[in-house]
Amino acid sequence: MNTPAFSRYTGQSSCSRRSGRAGQNNWSVLLIAGTLIMLFACSASDLVAAEITVTSKFLGGSGDVLEIEQNDDAARVVITPSSQIDRGWPCWWYVRIDGAKAGQKIAFTVQSNNLPFRGTQKLAANWSTPQRAAISLDGVSWAHTDTATTTPQTATYNIIAPQASFWVAWGPPFLSAHAESLLSEIAATLTAENEPNKRFELARSRENRPVHAIRFGNPQAANSIWVQARQHAWETGSSWVADGFVQWAASDDPLAVQLRSTTEVFFVPIMDVDNVDRGAGGKDSAPRDHNRDWADRPIYPEVLAAQNQIKKQIDDGRLRVYIDLHNPAPGDHEPFYFGPLDYAQLTPGLRQKYDRFLELSTQFIRGPLAIHPRYRFATYVPTAEEQKRVSRNWVGDRIGDQGVSLTLETAWNTPASTVDGYREVGRGLATTITKYLIEMNQADR
Ligand SMILES: [Zn+2]
Repeated sequence: MNTPAFSRYTGQSSCSRRSGRAGQNNWSVLLIAGTLIMLFACSASDLVAAEITVTSKFLGGSGDVLEIEQNDDAARVVITPSSQIDRGWPCWWYVRIDGAKAGQKIAFTVQSNNLPFRGTQKLAANWSTPQRAAISLDGVSWAHTDTATTTPQTATYNIIAPQASFWVAWGPPFLSAHAESLLSEIAATLTAENEPNKRFELARSRENRPVHAIRFGNPQAANSIWVQARQHAWETGSSWVADGFVQWAASDDPLAVQLRSTTEVFFVPIMDVDNVDRGAGGKDSAPRDHNRDWADRPIYPEVLAAQNQIKKQIDDGRLRVYIDLHNPAPGDHEPFYFGPLDYAQLTPGLRQKYDRFLELSTQFIRGPLAIHPRYRFATYVPTAEEQKRVSRNWVGDRIGDQGVSLTLETAWNTPASTVDGYREVGRGLATTITKYLIEMNQADR
């Protein structure tokens, strides 16, 4: 029998192609397979030898198949993040593999998408090729793969298929459904303790998706804080940091109870819900992304709504801490804050607040993802006009001396950049904020 070592396909998967593979061994198999297909239609083709297929056609999915080669023991799969023109960087990918054989060795290669994503702009390869990919048996719990072997344009993850179907992604996904269930859980926990809390829809997105949020703690308190994530859709780690933050803030830890008695907490786990659920990158989308939209007339309803609520808290003299959660560049291996660009010109009192906040962060965001002990400054934003449209700066320009406004960038390309690692950073952030507020409240007396 003159069977090639690998059967080879290029292009998108389909069920008819899967059934067609049986035909390459001999004609009788082909005839039987063909008859089966006619009798039972496409789904019955699973009765024929299983073949690997790859799909991203689900919520938050991204990835186009470039190549699949396979035999019984091994397979090679090549994908690239899907292009969504004007929807930001094509760095996010998230696919399901079906039809694998448990124990089969799969060389899973991600080839960077080097098509222009906006005008003539192209994305450097290393944003889409993490050292370790995320892998899941159930689409719920995620682990790291082994370290990839890389070329300038690709990363190859050697996977032993754990079962017929499993998921592989750039990082652990966090979609609108995660936000919904997280907020339900937080609300239920607090309600069971008879504590005030209110889930609310911050806004309806441009594509009419709800942007979920919650407020809890003491609604009459003199202090409020605002924590949000995912102005950039691909930065899934930032929502897991947010998850760790809010689970701690709503917990029965005595410090968390103290936080809630003296502070009202406003929390938004996903800002750019449209691009998150579309599986688009979001960053640098056209005409501008969420974190360049903090202008007089925002184009995103959720940015406008956040501005209005934050402005009210500033006007009421309540807002003490604003945190915008992100993930940084592939080469950044520790979390860090972007601080105020005018740090050197701040009043001594306000600079002391920023310094104390950072000092506390080094005590409580300790690892394995430990915070960098100095502020960094987003000087790469080219013009003063654009800098003003960054949310940290928008809040910083309005908050005066009453509070701190920071971007927290949590490293995603390290062995500790897992759901647990991200949550640990979030808990550290929550503890930092609580300790900071306790000190500030004492100083005010
Ligand atoms: Zn970002």
